[in-house]
Amino acid sequence: MTLHPPHSLLAELTHRCPLQCPYCSNPLELTKKSGEISTDTWKSVLSQAAELGVLHIHFSGGEPTARPDILELVSHAREVGLYSNLITSGVLMNEGRLDALLEAGLDHVQLSFQDCEAENADRIGGHKGGHAKKLDLAREVRARGAALTVNAVVHRQNIENVPKFIDLAVELDAGRLEVAHVQYYGWALKNRAALIPSREALMKATEEVAEARERLKGQLVIDYVIPDYYARYPKPCMSGWGRVGICVTPSGKALPCHAAETITGLEFDNVADKTLADIWETSSAFQAYRGFDWMEEPCRSCERREIDWGGCRCQAFAFTGRAEATDPACSKSPMHGELVELAMEESTAPPPEFAYRRIGAA
Ligand code: SF4
Ligand code: SF4
Repeated sequence: MTLHPPHSLLAELTHRCPLQCPYCSNPLELTKKSGEISTDTWKSVLSQAAELGVLHIHFSGGEPTARPDILELVSHAREVGLYSNLITSGVLMNEGRLDALLEAGLDHVQLSFQDCEAENADRIGGHKGGHAKKLDLAREVRARGAALTVNAVVHRQNIENVPKFIDLAVELDAGRLEVAHVQYYGWALKNRAALIPSREALMKATEEVAEARERLKGQLVIDYVIPDYYARYPKPCMSGWGRVGICVTPSGKALPCHAAETITGLEFDNVADKTLADIWETSSAFQAYRGFDWMEEPCRSCERREIDWGGCRCQAFAFTGRAEATDPACSKSPMHGELVELAMEESTAPPPEFAYRRIGAA
């Protein structure tokens, strides 16, 4: 397989976040502030990324604005020619910070919502008053003419509000709405029984999204990320392992996927020790599941192997204990029946309490 340069860099600047979402994609063992890499190291990573051919930088976390150097990093991204996106919970922002970020060159804001009803949203995020702040920020972003994506994370405790999420995105004048069903690794795997929706609820939400896509054509783009437990085939996770994107963690580890640390046995190079180009081309973690050589049957000879790239390695590992196994979300996997049964069982039993995401709570 020809190796092309990565398109995007997910820069997880910090794991610190005022919210405590029980589905957070950060690892269970969160990095403390003292373990974060420096501003200069991040600036070097951004410069190297641009040289390597990366086009988009996604500043993420945790909450990326918890780092006081966020302005400097956004400005540096602009200097080296990267299109910058801020993935934020919004609760640490105010008008002054927003103006400064836009002036520094920020191109796009992606604002996450826990629900569209304040009380439930604040309960899910474990942060009182968070929802109201998000609404304010969204309005301020659009008042300045900046690009806005509303990110709606859905699961069994808010899935009935999908139509309201769509209305909210229209009301906020967002250009894009991402309706993203929770993906089950990290904190979400720990909280799966509290989060996984029933097949019926999923089907209903899927129809609602399809209807809104038609109705709002030309006004709002709606992306839809399904939980593939009930699907026939898995999602093309990361568009293929080590194929188009790199993630750098707060401590500087370079990962082929933001959840890759859940796979034990992989070794990750650090941007403080190696160049990004070297990591992209030679790092053992990036090589491990790149292309097709690692595949076992039924993936190896499957006609869909260049469509879904064998699905998600982290999901395969979480469910089977082997990252090389066919993603159990695939109907061709021998474990698929077990996965669906488990999803049906958990989604119809009363939901347990959330285990909120906190440093040291794992
Ligand atoms: S998912 Fe929630 S807790 Fe995790 S980084 Fe985003 S806002 Fe913070
Ligand atoms: S067998 Fe493998 S490549 Fe084929 S559809 Fe399933 S996961 Fe994808």
